[in-house]
Amino acid sequence: MAGQQAVEHKYVYDFSEGNKDQKDLLGGKGANLAEMTNLGLPVPPGFTITTEACKAYLSTGEEPAGLGDQISARLATLESAMGKRLGDPDDPLLVSVRSGAKFSMPGMMETVLNVGLNDRSVVGLSAQAGGNDRFAWDSYRRLIQMFGKTVCEVPGEEFEHALDDVKRAKGVTNDLDLDADDLRGLVDAYKRIFSKHTGREFPQEPREQLDLAIHAVFESWNADRAVLYRRQERIPADLGTAVNVVAMVFGNLGPDSGTGVAFTRDPASGAQGIYGDYLANAQGEDVVAGIRNTVPLQELEQLDKKSYDELLSIMARLEEHYKDLCDIEFTIERGKLWMLQTRVGKRTAAAAFVIAGQLVDEGLIDLDEALHRVNGAQLAQLMFPRFKLDHEFQPVAKGIGASPGAAVGKVVFTSARAVELAAEGESVILVRRETNPDDLNGMIAAQGILTSRGGKTSHAAVVARGMGKTCVSGADDLDIDIPGRKFVVGGQTVSEGDVVSIDGTTGKVFLGEVPVMPSEVVQYFEGSLDPAHIDNALVRAVHRIMTHADGKRRLRVRTNADTGADAARARRFGAEGIGLCRTEHMFLGDRKELVERLILARDGKERDDALAALLPLQRADFVEIFREMDGLPVTVRLIDPPLHEFLPPLEQLAVNVAVAQERGEDVAKEEALLSAVRRMHEQNPMLGLRGVRLGLVIPGLFAMQVRAIAEAAVECAKQGVRSCPEIMVPLVGAVQELETVRSEAEKIIAEVTREQPVDVLIGTMIEVPRAALTAGQIAEAAQFFSFGTNDLTQMGWGFSRDDVEGAFFWRYLELGIFGISPFESIDREGVGRLVRIATEEGRAARPGLKIGVCGEHGGDPESVHFFHEVGLDYVSCSPFRVPVARLEAGRAVVETGGSDSR
Ligand code: PEP
Ligand code: MG
Repeated sequence: MAGQQAVEHKYVYDFSEGNKDQKDLLGGKGANLAEMTNLGLPVPPGFTITTEACKAYLSTGEEPAGLGDQISARLATLESAMGKRLGDPDDPLLVSVRSGAKFSMPGMMETVLNVGLNDRSVVGLSAQAGGNDRFAWDSYRRLIQMFGKTVCEVPGEEFEHALDDVKRAKGVTNDLDLDADDLRGLVDAYKRIFSKHTGREFPQEPREQLDLAIHAVFESWNADRAVLYRRQERIPADLGTAVNVVAMVFGNLGPDSGTGVAFTRDPASGAQGIYGDYLANAQGEDVVAGIRNTVPLQELEQLDKKSYDELLSIMARLEEHYKDLCDIEFTIERGKLWMLQTRVGKRTAAAAFVIAGQLVDEGLIDLDEALHRVNGAQLAQLMFPRFKLDHEFQPVAKGIGASPGAAVGKVVFTSARAVELAAEGESVILVRRETNPDDLNGMIAAQGILTSRGGKTSHAAVVARGMGKTCVSGADDLDIDIPGRKFVVGGQTVSEGDVVSIDGTTGKVFLGEVPVMPSEVVQYFEGSLDPAHIDNALVRAVHRIMTHADGKRRLRVRTNADTGADAARARRFGAEGIGLCRTEHMFLGDRKELVERLILARDGKERDDALAALLPLQRADFVEIFREMDGLPVTVRLIDPPLHEFLPPLEQLAVNVAVAQERGEDVAKEEALLSAVRRMHEQNPMLGLRGVRLGLVIPGLFAMQVRAIAEAAVECAKQGVRSCPEIMVPLVGAVQELETVRSEAEKIIAEVTREQPVDVLIGTMIEVPRAALTAGQIAEAAQFFSFGTNDLTQMGWGFSRDDVEGAFFWRYLELGIFGISPFESIDREGVGRLVRIATEEGRAARPGLKIGVCGEHGGDPESVHFFHEVGLDYVSCSPFRVPVARLEAGRAVVETGGSDSR
């Protein structure tokens, strides 16, 4: 009967039956124990109960039919392999019962060791251990403690207190100072605790212990901490855990026993060598508890040369087999080495690149596989300077890591002060509640930006990322007093000039100066480190893998840049053009006055004069950018934000005017400004007079910009610089809007380029859902599309991009409505669908239509894969994300099984 059920549904696998690719069924630990067993490595015999069994148990609260019999059958095999019976009074087999899910969930689920010990077999264990009574009673008390806590929910502190009482009575502080009699007494005390809480005696029947321990491990899948961990790590909730039942081996049987962990390479740097720790005469849990200090693994060579040599040869074998860095847990029982666990080890970003490069050199993997083994998030980490952190630095606040990096400087609260101090050579951190376009100069001058409001797509975050500047946003523990030039955090007041350090990766804020290390990878991208001539394994590995990614990728990578300096840097980082030049950024600084004149113009003449004054300035901007991007396309977007963003805030202006009037000053100009601000005030500026709407309402504005672009292209052509301008119209929702702008633009371009022909394309952003849904019509009038996924996400979800991340996204993430902010990584199903529809319908109407993306998602690793799949021609992102996008575009090809298509 049992045999038949085993055939029908197999719930239990001997280690000799599984392999490393069965993680879904056997969990990571079980699959790898099976793999090592099949490699002939010294793994203690055992078996794995599948995740299927766990799922069945959790759904009904009972063991699925046949499980008990299958366990009996495997247990019998295990007993005969060991030549002992579970819990035999004279010579007991003891087993450990350990969880092991598909994805590692360290310490989240349960383990019970020494199953099989009872009042009789403890005596047999002592005899087996050469009369070592202390060891036997210590093992028994550990079983009762673990079993009580894990299986029967006895409060763990009660056992701790009982242990403390025995130590106190004896006047010792260390567990190791307790002898066999003390531990025997402790077993009695533990049993009393057990029965007080459970209303029953500690189970003496070994098989009952085993079954209850297995059920407890199943149930630990749904323990609160495991649920929380899965949510954080985005591990699906329905996988279940496998259970491994393994013959116990003991590292605490004397000086010729011990336990350790090892890595086949350094998981921090990737350097080759032996890395690990060893603790003689101990069990794994003693290492975790830190009772005694471990020694470096190398010292095992002196203690036990035979085991050490065997371990090294196993490690080499495992690396060759897994073709990757492995981490290992082992135990030595009286000079005999046992492998308790292995898995492909976690590593730092730097180690990921270095190891991938080494494995290629060693012929273990090819470059496609190396590319697959690293990722853009790791590369991004390597591109930012880092803090050298040690214990003395504790963060005082934590906000959102909005733009990575490590910045240290004196606190300033206004843009003007930032500029002033920076001019004196000071490094400053600009602290604001939130930033607006007025702060741009201050942001440029600052080393980093710290705000108490706003999320990852707030103004501060987007602009800082664009500049590659460190930014922590939404640090709402900061109580900022701008007029008072100070902020208060955790009861401490930080005033202008005090030094703070901000970590844009973790969002942490520190008081004082934390030491910083620059990024070698950026120095390499900047061209100041030559990979052929330096002895830096990381830079060489990055160079090699990037070169391979570039050879593989189909997507082109452009940059979002509005200045010549950004364009030049992005080009060094590998940008193949500009995908978004936001012209409104050129209307700030000294030019604000001209923009004010334009906005306040009382008649056509005043307006034309203002535009005429702006024209040469804009032209010079474009000449500079075209020159830096000589030979590469530059997409210039016509002005997008509402004009009142260029005027002072309403409240501030109203107060200034009132105060000046009170003093009897001449306020005619301020009053005109105030009335313009009032006139233009909108409840929902993001949905108001901006983008193409502005161009259709303010005569001459777009025309001036188009003229400046065309004239710049002509000027460049005359100087032998090949510009490839692409004029992009923002916020188009209907083809008629685009047609109107386009026909006027074409006339201007024709006129300007009559004598010096240059090609200028005219296309549109697709960032309003209606544009995506009518892309077939819009494509008739557009020579290219570029998806503005920031606005498309804002309008697709109806989420205000400046507000929602700080306001309620935490709750959405907690509820699992989405796993990551849709402003950070493209929402494939919703917003992504709009991208897909527009791409298909746009290309159906205009075959070969050039399509890219210039929203923040263009530099997000996950989203780059999506844009590759949809078939876009390019992604465009901030200069610092260009290498990340290049890498991910190459990975996208490798991962979809594509081949070199360039
Ligand atoms: C966008 O909306 O995605 C975009 C690129 O434009 P902006 O961020 O300037 O609105
Ligand atoms: Mg937009």
